[in-house]
Order: sequence, then C-alpha cells, then structure tokens
Amino acid sequence: MVRLILFGPPGAGKGTQAAALSESLQVPHISTGDIFRSAITEKSDLGLQVQGYLDQGKLVPDNVVIDMVKERLALPDIAAGWILDGFPRTVPQAHALDQLLLEINQDYSWVLNLKVGESLLVERLLGRQRKDDTTEVIQERLKVYRDETAPVLAFYDQGTRLIHIDGAAEVETVTTRIQSAIKGE
Ligand code: AMP
Repeated sequence: MVRLILFGPPGAGKGTQAAALSESLQVPHISTGDIFRSAITEKSDLGLQVQGYLDQGKLVPDNVVIDMVKERLALPDIAAGWILDGFPRTVPQAHALDQLLLEINQDYSWVLNLKVGESLLVERLLGRQRKDDTTEVIQERLKVYRDETAPVLAFYDQGTRLIHIDGAAEVETVTTRIQSAIKGE
C-alpha cells in the first residue's frame, strides 16, 4: 500500500511522474489542478468559482481545495492507495491533510520533493500548451510557489518521510529515481 505526496514547483514534473507511478503502482492519481481544469471545462459551479484563480496563476482558497480533497479521499478507489499531485500547496492545507488522514485512519508513506532549477522550470512550462503557461502567469505561479508553497517543505521536514529527488533529468530517469527511493534502494 503506497500513499505518496508529490511536491515541487510548477514544471517540476509532478503530473508526469504521478501518471507514470499511478500506472506502475496501480493506485489512483489525484491531481487537484486536473480536477479544477475538468470542472472549468464542464462549467460546473466549482469550475466557475475557480476559473479566475487558475487563469491568473493564483491559488484557489484553502477551504475550497480542502473540501474537494476530502470528497475525493472518500471515494472507494483510494483503498488501493493514492498519489496526491499538487496538494498540499500551503501550510494550512498540509495541516488539514494531516487532520483528514487521521479522521480516515490513513497515513502517507512518503513526501517526494521534485527539485528542478528555475531556468529549467521556465523552459519546460513555456514548452507546454496550457492556458496558464504564458510568461506572465508562469512568473506569478513561481512567485506563489516561493511565497506560499515552499514553506510546506519545512512542515514535512520535521518528520522522516521527506525524500528529495533531483527532477532535472529525462522523465524515465526521474521515475526510476523515485521508484528506487520509495523502495529504499
Ligand atoms: P497544477 O495543475 O497543479 O499546476 O494547478 C493548476 C492551478 O490550479 C494552480 O495554479 C492553482 O490555481 C490551482 N490549484 C491546484 N492545486 C491547488 C492547491 N492545492 N491549492 C490551491 N490552488 C490549487
């Protein structure tokens, strides 16, 4: 049973790695960003509520994200384990996740911090075709990462389950690094 939190700045490869690990480990990939983008495409109430934040590269308010994750972690497929991608992104979200996991009698296995230098992040983000990958919005998302998300690392650093992974390599190389790290090799 593996329960992973994939952490890192925008462009670090969280989504790509989470998808590969989800396939090889046969556990659901839970991406808060993907859930928001689907909601926006469907024009649901949630989508309308969050669209402005995504367009501007700002964080969706904690209570909205936390409620959504709570609902997602109540679905039956998470009995197999899970990979969280893009959550938690603030210190209050990290506290809320701890609380939620206590309530559902689960614990995470590892927090994987994907490390990639800022110039490579920008290069990768500019190479994608996402609506929030314009130069201006990228700069905002990197700033939000530095100001609000990076402090979450200190929260997990108090424990013994934070693993740093060098994410500046080919996709397959990084996947192998993660697989070795979580197997303790
Ligand atoms: P991502 O696909 O993880 O890069 O997320 C895309 C966008 O969704 C972010 O720029 C935020 O606007 C929003 N988002 C995703 N996850 C979170 C989160 N945990 N907290 C707040 N906003 C989020």
